[in-house]
Amino acid sequence: MLVMTTLFPIPEAPLIPVLGSELTFPVRRIYCVGRNYAAHAKEMGHDERELPFFFTKPADCLVINPKSLTYPPMTNELHHEVELVIAINQEVVEANQHQAADSIYGYALGIDLTKRDIQSEAKKKGRPWDLSKGFDQSAPISSIQPIADLEEINNGLIALSINQQSKQEGQLNHMIWSPSEVIAELSKHVTLKPGDLIFTGTPSGVGVVERGDKVEAKLNQELSLDFYIE
Ligand code: MN
Repeated sequence: MLVMTTLFPIPEAPLIPVLGSELTFPVRRIYCVGRNYAAHAKEMGHDERELPFFFTKPADCLVINPKSLTYPPMTNELHHEVELVIAINQEVVEANQHQAADSIYGYALGIDLTKRDIQSEAKKKGRPWDLSKGFDQSAPISSIQPIADLEEINNGLIALSINQQSKQEGQLNHMIWSPSEVIAELSKHVTLKPGDLIFTGTPSGVGVVERGDKVEAKLNQELSLDFYIE
């Protein structure tokens, strides 16, 4: 019998711990929403309410509950974007609001690290900006809090500080598109499946992170991140 052997070990899915249980959440894909808070859209030079737009990061950009991250190469302008992250555990296509809300298993706190200089240059030239978003260690993330019987995550405070100085603070109910609206829209484009994460966009106050900085982020009292950039 011919035994087929993989050339090298099959890459493992990142496994995010679920708070209060022995379970882990295996990650399939990472989607991200651009501009989902009016004040951040404005600071990036956009005023009008548009449909949400999406980009992706490879799943292996995740760093789960890091103590430190390495400052990435090829940038002099690394930016922090603190975000609510939705964890999906049901397959949905063209979801209505109810199906969208049902597909949410829980939420996490994530930072969509961005090489702003590379992104600005790509935007100017009309080129893809994937590598400004999807570089190694570009998605630090907390454990996942199951929402249990909550239908929707529509209030709460998300905040980020650097070296104890507050930089970003946002009310989740100020998101232009709610989590279920984001899922409904995204599921028109792609089939969402268990293991998918959606970074839902950042409030205003994005700015640089430097080597040696201590980054702390919080979502309400439940979820936190706390790491150094080396
Ligand atoms: Mn973002």
